[in-house]
Formats: sequence, structure tokens, C-alpha cells
Amino acid sequence: MEYMPDFHLHRPTNIDEALEIKAQNPGARVVAGGTDLLVNIRRGIEQPDALIDLSGTRGLNMFSDDHEGLSLGAGLSLKMIASLEPVRDKYKAVADAALAVAGATHQAYGTLGGNLCLDTRCLFYNQSEWWRKSNAYCLKERGEICHVAPGGTFCFAAFSGDMAPAMLVFGAQVDIESPAGNRRIPLADLYRNDGMDHLALAADEIITGVSLAAGLGGDASGYEKARVRGSIDFPLAGAAVRLRRNPDGTLADLAIALTGVNPMPHLLKGTDAFLGKKLGEAELDAIRDLARKQAKPMRTTTVAPWYRRRVVGALARRLTAELYDAAVEPEDT
Ligand SMILES: Cc1cc2nc3c(=O)[nH]c(=O)nc-3n(C[C@H](O)[C@H](O)[C@H](O)COP(=O)(O)OP(=O)(O)OC[C@H]3O[C@@H](n4cnc5c(N)ncnc54)[C@H](O)[C@@H]3O)c2cc1C
Ligand code: SF4
Repeated sequence: MEYMPDFHLHRPTNIDEALEIKAQNPGARVVAGGTDLLVNIRRGIEQPDALIDLSGTRGLNMFSDDHEGLSLGAGLSLKMIASLEPVRDKYKAVADAALAVAGATHQAYGTLGGNLCLDTRCLFYNQSEWWRKSNAYCLKERGEICHVAPGGTFCFAAFSGDMAPAMLVFGAQVDIESPAGNRRIPLADLYRNDGMDHLALAADEIITGVSLAAGLGGDASGYEKARVRGSIDFPLAGAAVRLRRNPDGTLADLAIALTGVNPMPHLLKGTDAFLGKKLGEAELDAIRDLARKQAKPMRTTTVAPWYRRRVVGALARRLTAELYDAAVEPEDT
């Protein structure tokens, strides 16, 4: 690990102040819990000349639950989110995901905004300065080739956040502030399929919160991931599922999102094909295959891509089956 470089630390007390500081310091980076950014700085990957600490910025720790849905401030810690009753009761996949992030200390410091804006990860990138230098760096940072796909110009670094897939299945919308005003976009539109530049966020923008649709709250949902170390690790592959059953046992709604297997979190396409059907072995196998097909893991972790593709399909299948069985309506039996 490197020493921290010299930097200016700004501690805005409100969002307008934070935006103004950001607009005046194009090289400045916002830091929330710091559990991702500070690691990258200590590895020499990032060298910002100024940090804008959002931990004392008012308004980012709010939450509300009303007829429009659940709103969560970007500054809420993952631990706090997992403890909120409406999250546990109605948006269980989100609570599962928060409790699946790293370990307890990361959950206490790590925030929702930081988790959604987590940098993409790769075996050849998340290394110390001397390691990367010895390997001539790579396209994502200072180098000229991609070690995963030499000869190409695309970066396959994987998005490995746990919260995004769990929020995608609830139709999450993100609130973004900038000096020009605010905008609300679907969470899916926050991401680009590019490991080098995976966030569609302008340099002067800050995420202030996320809203989950009220109409989907209460659906059966869950999140599961596979990781190397069970106690503390990024997902090698992760799947969030939300579904609703009709009284006759057919499927009324199904959404599945993946993480760890593409440069962006991925909401599965084609799940509508299962609506109106009962889920038997054949349908569950088809859901597994859908997930496998749309996952594009590359050699960005120590674990082989073929294994991660198989695992993500197995996670999606198992979770869907469990939630489907558990969501039996009284009229079904
Ligand atoms: C050992 C270890 C294991 C980990 N395991 C996991 C894991 O299993 N799953 C997982 O998801 N993460 C994991 N992480 C990463 C991290 O702990 C979490 O993702 C955490 O939620 C990041 O939040 P933070 O507030 O600490 O982010 P920070 O480090 O403060 O910020 C991360 C990025 O988000 C940007 N950012 C922060 N807030 C905002 C905002 N409001 N608007 C715009 N940009 C913003 C920052 O500029 C930075 O680029 C791990 C980290 C470590 C060190
Ligand atoms: S996928 Fe290639 S360019 Fe991207 S971080 Fe890995 S080695 Fe670097």
C-alpha cells in the first residue's frame, strides 16, 4: 500500500456546498464511507488532489416510506438500511444485499451511494502500485494493453456491487444533483457496459438518494451471491430475484438481476416469457439458462469465467424456486 498523497479535504455541511466545491475543483472526488475509494488511493490507482467528505452533509441520511414507495438517502450506511423495518418487510432482497456486503465494519461505514458508484474490479487492476507497474499496468489505468483480452480495446472489469441488482428488481430510480438542478433516472441508466467508464454520471453530479417503487414492495424477493471468503468478499457472481404469484399458482411478475459477471449490473431480459405460467423444472432450467446466457464473465477474478457463469445460473434458479415455493397464496393449496 502507498501512503496517502497530499490532498485538500473538504467537509461540506449541505449538498449545495458540496456541489459548489465539486464545481470549483474538477479533480476532486467525493468520499462517503471511503471503503472503496480510500483502498484505491492507497493502491496508487487514484490520485485525487481533493476529497469532498459527504459524511457530515445534511440530507443524505433521510429515508421515507409512503404511497409513492421507499426513498433511501445516498448517505445511509448499509447497516442502517438492513435494519429498517420497511426494507426488511417489503424489499427483502435489498436487506439481504446490504448484509452480504463485505463484513460488519464495511456495512457500518459503507454507504448506499458509494456502493452504487463502486469502481469496477479486475484481477489485474485491484493490485498494489508495484504489482501493476511490474505488469506494465493495463488499459483501465496507465497501461496500453488489456491483460484479460490482449489485443482488444475494451475493458471487461466487472461491476461487483451487491446493492444494485437488489434495487434493480424493484425498479429503482436514482436522484442526482448538480449545479444545474436535479434529475431522476432509472438505476439501470446509471450504468454503462464499459469497465473503464461504467457510470453515466457527470463530473459535477452527486447521487442524493434512491427510490423503490411502492407497487412492487411486498413482492417475494431475495439476493444471493457466491464469493471466495464467506465472511468478507465481493461477489464472484450474485443474483437478485423478485416475483409475485397469482392465486392460481401462475407467475404474475418476475425480475432477476445479476452482478459480478458483466461490467455493469444486469437486469435479465426475457423474464416476461414466464408470466402466466407455473414454474416447474423445465421453466426453472430455462431461467437458469437465461441467466447463464446473459452473464459475460471474463478472466477478471481468480475464479474461472465458466464457473462464474454456471454459478450465476444456479443462484438465479435456486432463488427463484425458493421464492416461488414460499409465495404460495392461500387459494393455491
Ligand atoms: C475487503 C473489502 C471487501 C468488500 N466487499 C464488498 C462486497 O462484498 N460487496 C460490495 O458491494 N462492496 C464491497 N466492498 C466495497 C465497499 O466496502 C462497499 O461497496 C461500500 O458500500 C462502498 O461505499 P462507501 O460509502 O465506502 O464508498 P466510497 O469508498 O466512499 O466511494 C466509492 C465510490 O463512490 C463514489 N461516491 C460515493 N458516494 C457518492 C455519491 N453520493 N454520489 C456520487 N458518487 C459517490 C466515490 O466518489 C467513489 O468513487 C468491499 C471493500 C473492501 C475493502
Ligand atoms: S479487463 Fe483488461 S483493461 Fe480492464 S482492468 Fe482488467 S486487465 Fe485492465
